[in-house]
Amino acid sequence: MTSKALNQFLDESIANLKEHGLYNEIDVVQGANGPIITINGQEKINLSSNNYLGLATDNRLMVAAKQAVDTYGVGAGAVRTINGTLDLHIQLEEKLAQFKGTEAAISYQSGFNCNMAAISAVMDKNDAILSDSLNHASIIDGCRLSKAKIIQFEHSDMKDLRQKARKAVQSGAYKKVMVISDGVFSMDGDIANLPGIVEIAKEFDLITYVDDAHGSGVTGNGAGTVKHFGLEKQIDFQMGTLSKAIGVVGGYVAGKENLINWLKVRSRPFLFSTALSPADTIASAKALEILMDSKELNVQLWENGNYLKNGLMKLGFNIGHSETPITPCIIGDEKKAQMFSKRLNEEGVYAKAIVFPTVPRGTGRVRNMPTSAHTKEMLDEAISVYEQVGKELGII
Ligand code: PMP
Repeated sequence: MTSKALNQFLDESIANLKEHGLYNEIDVVQGANGPIITINGQEKINLSSNNYLGLATDNRLMVAAKQAVDTYGVGAGAVRTINGTLDLHIQLEEKLAQFKGTEAAISYQSGFNCNMAAISAVMDKNDAILSDSLNHASIIDGCRLSKAKIIQFEHSDMKDLRQKARKAVQSGAYKKVMVISDGVFSMDGDIANLPGIVEIAKEFDLITYVDDAHGSGVTGNGAGTVKHFGLEKQIDFQMGTLSKAIGVVGGYVAGKENLINWLKVRSRPFLFSTALSPADTIASAKALEILMDSKELNVQLWENGNYLKNGLMKLGFNIGHSETPITPCIIGDEKKAQMFSKRLNEEGVYAKAIVFPTVPRGTGRVRNMPTSAHTKEMLDEAISVYEQVGKELGII
């Protein structure tokens, strides 16, 4: 017998979400997640993945992963500190440090648990964290887990950050104060003001933490947002994922050796969760090699991003203030955003509606993620479907 209270909670909560257009149905992709995907047997132009450089289906990564399976098997076998640390993990971490221009790096099984791990390994109840109001859920959860006092500052508002930093530091109530921000904000595509953050951090001796999940492989000619601003020596935590532009799965922090050594002895997902699989590890290392060797995919990504953005803007869509290939079409009303996405989907363009709680209420949108793997023909086709459906629903 299952709990009556649980069933009542679930039934009521789900009905409530559905009524408000906030219940996302999950589609199943049949086959590879490339620029064209198959859902319910139908091919769609995929504008919904974070596979910015098309590396998720890149043959060089696939060959490397197959070789890893042949040599190492499919699982790492244990947590890193027992006997799960493979030579492949060390090689990946060396490459990550090289990629980010730091002394060392540590990898985790996902970007999400990397944020949970790293923030809470360093911050505690005697500390405070200044967190951008649009930071990713994994940052928010990592901050909560640390038990530090969380002080939100207005999105990318340096005046507000400075005031709050001054107040926190001058209060004398906290042993350490951290400032934490996404490098690229994934729902709007804007870039954090890292030079502003670093200036304030220097003024008040703040710990700096940048989650560049959406910047790595994208900004800074592919090296990420910290490099974009030339701040490699100024940021304490350069956090990123292996799951987006890198095309695989996993997360990492790059930084000074003493920080990485500490995370290896104190961050709980490193200590208590089995290591990345050999295939994921080697495929990620291969992706980094490709990124460091050539800018070709990155150049193509920006070309495609600008092409799609210009096309949608010319049609009259509100694409917000994106500074990266991420291209939101902001609709506002959640139900309308979902209807828009549904109609695009029926016409062969897969671009998901993003609604509360992923974005603030009343800012429902359809978010487009062009990649280097899209062809001009695919983007032209997508733009023409946007025009047709946008007019049909009175959005343009
Ligand atoms: N940080 C940010 C900014 C993200 O967008 C995401 C993924 N949505 C994550 C962390 C979590 O990364 P992962 O998918 O690798 O767990």
